[in-house]
Amino acid sequence: MNKYSVEPKSRKELRMLARQIRKNLGIEDQLYFPVVELFERLPDIYQDLECQIVNDFELPINVHAITDIRAKTIKVKENVYDNACKGNGRDRMTILHEIAHYLTLCELNFTLARSFDEERIPTYCDPEWQAKCLAGELMMPANKIKNMDVEQVMKECGVSWDAANYQLSKI
Ligand SMILES: [Zn+2]
Repeated sequence: MNKYSVEPKSRKELRMLARQIRKNLGIEDQLYFPVVELFERLPDIYQDLECQIVNDFELPINVHAITDIRAKTIKVKENVYDNACKGNGRDRMTILHEIAHYLTLCELNFTLARSFDEERIPTYCDPEWQAKCLAGELMMPANKIKNMDVEQVMKECGVSWDAANYQLSKI
């Protein structure tokens, strides 16, 4: 996805969007984001979308999950899915990251433009940054975690130490 740039979005805008998505899902007051449930339910909400759990060998070794925005397919490795079901923070984030790509680019229609290789994409226009930011904001709402420490955020939100630490640094 790194050859593309998207219309600019600030963290503030993505934070507001995350809040709206949580509201639409009816989980405003719930801290632990139901990632696996959403992954399974998403094709019922968006009928063009296909969410697949694939054999680990179907994707390259360093790819845990992938979203094809043209085919409207999210593929998640079986191993990642299984670990997410067990509550592994990193795997939960991997799945939500792909969902964030799908929502921003396919459903909310953030405008995507092809960018030339030599052109540096500003962070706020980078689809990878936007998906990472939105997934983080969905899993760790700023207004709810602002008085917590890293360990509390890890436990309450079901995220990794790195994710909790990063998100707290952005509040
Ligand atoms: Zn990505």
